Amino acid sequence: MHKENLTIALIAHDNKKDEIVAWATKNAEFLKNHNLCGTGTTAKRIKEATGLNVKGYLSGPLGGDQQIGALLAQGEIDLVVFLCDPLTAQPHDPDVKALLRIANVYNIAIATNVATADYIITSNLI
Ligand code: PGA
Repeated sequence: MHKENLTIALIAHDNKKDEIVAWATKNAEFLKNHNLCGTGTTAKRIKEATGLNVKGYLSGPLGGDQQIGALLAQGEIDLVVFLCDPLTAQPHDPDVKALLRIANVYNIAIATNVATADYIITSNLI
């Protein structure tokens, strides 16, 4: 039995954008029951591909990761799907680390790859 109305943040680095769009498309039936938000470009891509309502914040490198981190610290995010590119240096690497860190501070589930995201959304704990 899944809880409804969770707030789920969706973020993907550029090389992972297609992957998060495919994941969101595959899981649209699940996602449509929740409040979705994401970094600017990721949110836009998912919205265009799926028609899901995804509130977009700033683009990640321009502060979007930090905005999502702040919401998380305020208790306003229940789950983060953050598909990181492990093979490309990111200009906003400190922000990436800060988001991972603050999720661990508050014990909020944060999936950094599709396999983990699938485990989480099919878990009885969600
Ligand atoms: P974007 O940001 O969705 O605006 O591309 C993602 C990121 O790189 O953090």
